[in-house]
Amino acid sequence: MKINNNSDFKIELPKYIKSLIDLLNSKGYEAYAVGGCVRDCVMGRLPNDFDMTTNATPDEMLTVFCEYKVIETGLKHGTLTVISENIPVEITTYRVDGEYHDSRHPDKVYFTRNLKDDVSRRDFTVNAMAYNDKTGIVDFYGGIDDIKKKLIMAVGDADKRFKEDALRIIRALRFASVLGFDIEEKTAFAASENAELLKNISAERINVELKKLLLGKNAIKILKEHSDILAFVSPEMFSSCTEKLKKLSTAPDDVNVFFAFLLTDSTEKEANEALSRLKFSNAERKEITELLSLQKKDIPKNKIEMKFFISETYIELIPKYFMLLSALGKGTSSAEKYYAEIRDNKECVYISDLKVNGNDLSKTGISKGEKIGQALKFLLRAVISGEVENKKEELLEFAKNNFLE
Ligand code: ATP
Ligand code: MG
Repeated sequence: MKINNNSDFKIELPKYIKSLIDLLNSKGYEAYAVGGCVRDCVMGRLPNDFDMTTNATPDEMLTVFCEYKVIETGLKHGTLTVISENIPVEITTYRVDGEYHDSRHPDKVYFTRNLKDDVSRRDFTVNAMAYNDKTGIVDFYGGIDDIKKKLIMAVGDADKRFKEDALRIIRALRFASVLGFDIEEKTAFAASENAELLKNISAERINVELKKLLLGKNAIKILKEHSDILAFVSPEMFSSCTEKLKKLSTAPDDVNVFFAFLLTDSTEKEANEALSRLKFSNAERKEITELLSLQKKDIPKNKIEMKFFISETYIELIPKYFMLLSALGKGTSSAEKYYAEIRDNKECVYISDLKVNGNDLSKTGISKGEKIGQALKFLLRAVISGEVENKKEELLEFAKNNFLE
């Protein structure tokens, strides 16, 4: 990775950011792009979004941006969202955080006119850089060096920073995983020492970080090295994951499959508890638990078995089921072939694929209601097992012969 000196390092900021910086400057204020976007630009990665920081107070910003659409996102904490060329940009007044008492929220925040104060409150050196075209990169804490060394290192005293806000512990793991970095020794030690404080962090925040962590390119390594920390987040997923991970050469690139993989040794009850404690959505829980129950079944050995297998679940889940099997080191090759044929030929696997429906059956004289439902299931089984073809006339004939007394 080639990184120039700070002074001549040039980041090409997008126009919609430059114009906001220019406007603030023209009114006499400082303004910078800050945090993750600077880190990503330095690394040649595409930033998710550009955040800004300024010495203008929120009231001063409201005056400067009077011609813009502004959303008062977190005015108390100094954050405004300014819509620039239709893109929302968060701009926060230089800020220092007051005392923390709950391992998560500062009791109070204070605005400051000094950029160094603002970057000092940020979590890691690589996230504590600011940039504008006039000044170049502002890097008080050696973020560029740590990018070169591929290190996640706390700004200031790691122990203190994790005690202030324990979410940073899992963020350290997340950035190490996503960026492919190591966690600097003292930072890693302090993260382990304070891992218990993660219990004070809201499940929603942990959930977001955990997903990003699992999708990172170094997820397996981070999980192996820091399962002690992650076990405080979910003992079900992480307390004995190391052995399992040894067999995994590449991480599943679907996060629900990864969660299912981590829960395969848990009981159904434990898995459900873990997922609800970590506030997974209903859709996510459904998919993960369905994957867990599918992988307990025998792998279909022929096309008919594959059809019955699909008929009991939803077809969109099957590729994820295969992804899970392969993560678990189970061969899938012929089952995958049967599945591909069934999918490509749109073969009949559901009642809705049958060439007859309930109305058609009513007309044959089969009484209404439950019996029709049963009859359709019976027909589906017969089609799948090859006793009758999925053609209307033949199905009706088959139904008459089998159901009409
Ligand atoms: P991403 O690429 O995922 O958006 P990011 O570095 O931008 O990563 P965000 O969560 O968007 O991370 O936060 C933006 C910036 O705010 C961070 O780069 C960091 O400077 C600061 N920050 C965010 N959360 C914390 C925290 N818990 N403690 C200290 N600083 C934080
Ligand atoms: Mg961000």
